[in-house]
Formats: sequence, C-alpha cells, structure tokens
Amino acid sequence: MPATPAWPPASTPRLFVDQPLGLDAAPVIDGPAAHYLLHVMRMKAGDPLLLFDNRSGEWLGTIADAGKRAATIRIERQMREIERVPDLWLCFAPVKKARLDWIIEKATELGVARLQPVITERTIVERVKQERIEAQIVEACEQCGRTALPELAEPLKLPQLLKEWPAERALLFADEEGGAPMASVAAPAPAAILTGPEGGFTVREREMLVATPAVRRVTLGPRILRAETAAIAATGLWMALNGDWAAK
Ligand code: SAH
Repeated sequence: MPATPAWPPASTPRLFVDQPLGLDAAPVIDGPAAHYLLHVMRMKAGDPLLLFDNRSGEWLGTIADAGKRAATIRIERQMREIERVPDLWLCFAPVKKARLDWIIEKATELGVARLQPVITERTIVERVKQERIEAQIVEACEQCGRTALPELAEPLKLPQLLKEWPAERALLFADEEGGAPMASVAAPAPAAILTGPEGGFTVREREMLVATPAVRRVTLGPRILRAETAAIAATGLWMALNGDWAAK
C-alpha cells in the first residue's frame, strides 16, 4: 500500500507575515512576497502555503484570491506551536557586508535567540544596516523552518555591553589569543558568545573582558579563524553541547 504523500508537500512555500495569524485571520500578502508567490511560484487560488508570524507558530493556508499584486490567504489549520529556541545570544563585531550577511544567515539557521552587534575599537564597519539584517533573518527563518525569529538588538559599544551585562548569562569570549576549550567551559543557557572584528580585540578590550565576572575566554583551536568562521563555529559548538542538537 503506497504511503499517502505528506500534505502539504515539502516544496510548499513558507512565508513570514508580520500580522497575527489564527483561524479567523485572512492575511493579505502584497509587495515582494506577493510577487514571489504569484509570479515566480505562479500560485493560483487553492494552492497551499505555510505562514508564521513570530507569535503563534506555523499555519497552513491556501490562496483564497490571487490578484495581480496581492493575494488573500484563507487559514486552514495550525501546523505547529511557536518553538522555544535555546537561550543563546551571538554578540559579534560587524564585519564587511558579504561576510556579515553570512554570519546573520548562519547564526539564524543554527538557532540563536538574539543577535547583538558590538562595536569594538577595531570594528571598521561604520553603520550597521538593521533593516537589511532583519530581511536576512526573515529569509533564513523561512528557509530553515524557524517560527520564532531571532531578536536583533541595537548595536552597542563593547564597554556599554559589558557595563549592562546580565550577571546570570555566561559570556563566552572567543579569544584568538587563547582560552579554555569550549567543551570544558560549562555554559548552559542563558549564555552568549562574543567574536571580534577582522583585526581582533585590543589589549585594553581583553583586560575589560577578563575583568567582567560573567566572561569566560574560550579557544576555537590553534588557527586564526576569520570572524565569521569563529562566530559560526562557536555557535555550532555551543548548540551541540548545550543547545537543542541532542537527539529529540
Ligand atoms: N587579526 C587577529 C585575528 C582576528 S580573527 C589576529 O591576527 O590575531 C576575528 C575574531 O575571530 C577574533 O577576534 C576572535 O573573536 C575570533 N577567533 C579567531 N580565531 C580564533 C581562535 N583560534 N580562538 C578563539 N577565537 C578566535
């Protein structure tokens, strides 16, 4: 007896909508998302799609009305509750555009709860384009199946970040000059990772960091990693040791 095919099919488009979803919602999709559904995916009335709203989880919908520039969706049923994401923050010194895009996308896929840009003495990026990062977060969540978006915090200078640091949250300082192996640093959630810019941390910053009680220096091995490699390697390591990568 052939198994009944899963419904909706794995190829069903998945979209974030910034409006509350529910059985009595009739969200209207417009703008680029509508263009994607109607003209790229050529979806018609009755076609299925998955929606999530960063509040109530994921819902199965169907196109109720397909216009030229907008589509009205009928909500059929809830597919999933919003998931609990491990309470890990990634604090990162912004790096150049393409590599920063990569950090945002990969950290979202890996399951971080919050992205905190940190301006350090050797950060060369002037302005952090928050709206660009928000768009990348949404796209990564649509692809990887998250229904809870990571929070994007306003950029902070390192001294300010440390001044306001919550004492109960371990701050794993990825120090290119060495530290303890991550596996030997017990840092269950709530936790955070900090990575530096292309030029690394200054002596003064390192002193400030090690003087902060919640800070633990960790090494990511004997080689000098690019900032984006360090951010993603540290996040993956933490997720495997303390996050939600253990067997379900
Ligand atoms: N220009 C610096 C390296 C900066 S690498 C130098 O040559 O020393 C950018 C960031 O990645 C660092 O600030 C650190 O946070 C992280 N990083 C790179 N390699 C690392 C390692 N082996 N261990 C821990 N953190 C590392």
